[in-house]
Amino acid sequence: MDQRLPDAADDALPEPARDVLLDIRNLHVSVPGKSSSKTIIDGLNLQLRSGEIVALVGESGSGKSMTALSLMRLLPSAASITGGQVLFRGRDVLGMSQAELNHLRGGHIAMIFQQPQAMLDPTSRVGVQVAEALWKHRRPDRSSVKERVIKLLADVGIPAPASRIDCFAHELSGGMAQRVMMAAAMSGEPQILIADEPTTALDVTVQVQILKLLDEQRRKRNLAILLITHDLSIVSAIADRVAVMYAGRIVEEGPARDILKHPRHPYTRALVQCSLLKADENGRLYSIPAAPTALATGQGCRFLPRCPTAAANGISAHCLEQEPQLSTYDRTCMARCWAVACNDHPAMATSGVHA
Ligand code: SF4
Repeated sequence: MDQRLPDAADDALPEPARDVLLDIRNLHVSVPGKSSSKTIIDGLNLQLRSGEIVALVGESGSGKSMTALSLMRLLPSAASITGGQVLFRGRDVLGMSQAELNHLRGGHIAMIFQQPQAMLDPTSRVGVQVAEALWKHRRPDRSSVKERVIKLLADVGIPAPASRIDCFAHELSGGMAQRVMMAAAMSGEPQILIADEPTTALDVTVQVQILKLLDEQRRKRNLAILLITHDLSIVSAIADRVAVMYAGRIVEEGPARDILKHPRHPYTRALVQCSLLKADENGRLYSIPAAPTALATGQGCRFLPRCPTAAANGISAHCLEQEPQLSTYDRTCMARCWAVACNDHPAMATSGVHA
């Protein structure tokens, strides 16, 4: 069987557009529950194109990290993909053999994580770890490995890389360790980088440096980056598009600049308010109300128990009875909210979602 993935010269790529590298279609992921399985990703659709940075944002538990792990088929053993497709340049990742997956991971799609020092092997010199990643995917001439590792470290901004190859992880700062992780990730010359909270454990100044590095790598390599984060200031600094996840579904998606400036979904609006640390007229900082369980199990909108728009305008029958679909607004954005989709929603009569 031909286990080769399609390369850039292949011209028989399926629809949609040729520059779509990753096409996630109707993805479902479940975990075992007390009496039956629980769906944690529910019909997720998302596309990633060459050279763009797409941010997947949401609170802890919204499903964003599980989405990232699904793409590489690296879910924890208890979780399973129960439906949908993950197409990498037209090939369904979910149907790949182990050999194809090994080639895909690192060779086409690489991943970096938060807490890079914990991800590096404490017993092995960082140069050896980068060399192993390089060897796994590119099999360079043995005599050139050291030189190529030094270049990879230099490319991610590590000063004096020739002397750093002999360091151990504990001798590096958090920022330097993340750069080493980037060097290892880039060694396979992937087309996609999944960056899961890559700056979470770092100081603010180092965060800025790592974001600059991601942006540089995107430009230099036409790399597509799926950035998993809960931090909207990072989205604003670097992302082209943003998809907001709530309870396993995308609730709003579009160009990052537009969504952050004029969010329509009440959840996105609440996230933006939280990120701006806005205080109300009494000087209290805004926070999204926790979900009261009594309303959380209905058939209607999943955000209803926490929705400030519904609370302010009265709960409409739509919100209560039927989950909204994603509907398009302003031509390039989509939101999963009846107040966006439906002209007779009570929020239309006040300063609600459409304000
Ligand atoms: S559909 Fe209704 S409950 Fe859901 S977010 Fe929109 S206004 Fe709120």
